[in-house]
Amino acid sequence: MAILAKEVRKIYKKGVKEVQALNGVSLEIERGYSLAVVGPSGAGKSTLLHILGALDEPDEGSVILDGKDLYHLSDRERSSVRNRSIGFVFQFYHLLPEFTALENVMLPAMIMGRCSLTAGKRLRERALDILKSVGLADRAGHRPGELSGGESQRVAIARALINNPQYLLCDEPTGNLDSKTSEDIYTLLFEMKSRYNMALVIVSHDESLSKRTDRILRLKDGVAN
Ligand code: ADP
Ligand code: MG
Repeated sequence: MAILAKEVRKIYKKGVKEVQALNGVSLEIERGYSLAVVGPSGAGKSTLLHILGALDEPDEGSVILDGKDLYHLSDRERSSVRNRSIGFVFQFYHLLPEFTALENVMLPAMIMGRCSLTAGKRLRERALDILKSVGLADRAGHRPGELSGGESQRVAIARALINNPQYLLCDEPTGNLDSKTSEDIYTLLFEMKSRYNMALVIVSHDESLSKRTDRILRLKDGVAN
């Protein structure tokens, strides 16, 4: 079980100007391992994470997820692989403000279509269990506006876990948090990785992250070094 990226290239066109965001990046990340992708702003880190997670198409190269060539699948098949296999955590949480913490956690599973009444009840219990495991059982009924940054990120992590992903992809997950809260969030991410035997990929401009992970990919100007 692994994600294998081979010679991935991505060019963005802004009018007549072209930006080479990724210039032939290859990597492998297996379940049970952690990878830090570090590098300065504009290095191509987010682009790489999106392409690994089937959110954005490369111009050249391939991404093989558990033996499936992601960008040779139909859009529908690719979305299905993404929903079943990958959890995302972003810098700004992306929680829906009008829903409670519990409902935000349930949403990706509801999108997967498990919406019958009994399934709904089971899903609610599962979402509550996951909220407990990220230390937020007592905030289940709160809306995002009533949560701190650290609490919001915990909800986002719980939401990323609801469909039992094998891969947890995090883009600057502590970029909006103070240093103590950042430590707690990293600790939680590594705990969840071990508990569910996932692959954990964390993108950050913070080089010190590389001390915590099994592997490091240093990116600059779309090239790994
Ligand atoms: P990082 O996450 O390391 O800061 P990004 O992957 O976001 O880097 O961006 C890499 C390069 O691609 C940057 O030069 C950025 O300006 C450019 N870029 C990213 N997304 C787009 C886009 N949607 N359109 C045009 N250029 C983009
Ligand atoms: Mg970025």
